[in-house]
Amino acid sequence: MHELSIAESVVAAVCERAGDRRVHSVRMRIGAFTAVVPDAMQFCFGLAVEGTVADGARLDIEHRPGAVHCRACGADTDLADMLLLCPCGSADVAVTAGRELQIVSMEVG
Ligand SMILES: [Zn+2]
Repeated sequence: MHELSIAESVVAAVCERAGDRRVHSVRMRIGAFTAVVPDAMQFCFGLAVEGTVADGARLDIEHRPGAVHCRACGADTDLADMLLLCPCGSADVAVTAGRELQIVSMEVG
C-alpha cells in the first residue's frame, strides 16, 4: 500500500506551506497510471493528517485518465487501466497522460 507514504509526503509538503495556519482542504490530481487507489488515498490522508495543522482537512481528488501515443500506428488512445497497449496491438507506446501525482491547490486560513 504505497498510498500511505504518498499521503505522508503530501501532508508534509502541505504543512510546510501552511506554516501555523490551519489547512481546510487539499486538492490532488492523480493519474490512472500511478496505481493510487482513491479510497485508499482518502483513508491514508486521514491518518497522515492526525496531529498536524491539516488535521480534519478534506482531500479532493481529481482523477485523470491515462493516454498513450503509439509509435507503431501513430494513434493517441485514452486508457482506463495500467495495460500499456495500443488498440492496434503494439506495446511500443509513449505515455502522454496518467502519471500525474500533484497537489493542485490547498485552502488554508
Ligand atoms: Zn497503435
